[in-house]
Amino acid sequence: MARSLVRFRSSIGRAASLLFVLAACRTTSDRPREVQPAWRAAGRTHLGRPIELAELGDGPRTVLLLAAIHGDEPAGAPLLCELVQRLAADPGPLAGRRVLVVPLANPDGFALGRRGNARGVDLNRNFPARSWHGSELHGTEPLSEPESRLLSTLILGEGVARVVSLHQPADLLDYDGPAGELAGALAGASPLRVHRLGARPGSLGSWAGVDLGLPVITLELPRSADRLSGGERWEAYGPLLLEAIRHPFPDEPGAGPGGQRAPAAGTSPASSAAEPGSARRARTKSLPRSSNRL
Ligand SMILES: [Zn+2]
Repeated sequence: MARSLVRFRSSIGRAASLLFVLAACRTTSDRPREVQPAWRAAGRTHLGRPIELAELGDGPRTVLLLAAIHGDEPAGAPLLCELVQRLAADPGPLAGRRVLVVPLANPDGFALGRRGNARGVDLNRNFPARSWHGSELHGTEPLSEPESRLLSTLILGEGVARVVSLHQPADLLDYDGPAGELAGALAGASPLRVHRLGARPGSLGSWAGVDLGLPVITLELPRSADRLSGGERWEAYGPLLLEAIRHPFPDEPGAGPGGQRAPAAGTSPASSAAEPGSARRARTKSLPRSSNRL
């Protein structure tokens, strides 16, 4: 009885925090706004919750950022809300860019405090990648879930040219597709180091990165990011997010030499050229034990 009451209270708390995150996203901060983010409910979950999308900028290159596709990895959601607020106040990084932000890609999972959606499907295994295979956790077929369908529609229908997805808790930066040079630049702007985990069956990285050939960045924030204040989280990871938007595409002025050359697995390309082997090894991360759940 007591345990069920605790569960009830914590589920109420999670639903309230979901409302809080979304309200904070849309609230005008005390900073003056240079641009107005266009918010809309781009889709609905199984339980009827809106999947909110913010759009900023009107440049020719579209960057999609999303968080909390795994509902029990919440730290990226307020971070993306802060990003929207900052871009509205200072739109400099939007030059040449159109930015789509989905702070809560799995609102039902977030409210329920679970990895999957309301039906228990891991949305990051439900994309129509060649590697997809069916199971209770992966869905009955690719894009069987409204949340993954929405992301797929955005990527294909909105001409998305770069994808950044925020997860927890592995404390690293992974990528799929032609994103090696970008990943190195982002590692240089953050405490995260590049570590390639390999594309999972039916994941966003497998579909959009490996199959479609788009640069897909996976940010694995540490679990400790939950305990940071909004300001501390922005200080740690905000510069990385801004760089993820403004970093030149290979055919744009300022693109680094070597274009999208991929670094060796498990190394930080930002450091590998200049550091001796011992320093490189020190920066190389070992594979997290729970990596099959990332
Ligand atoms: Zn995850």
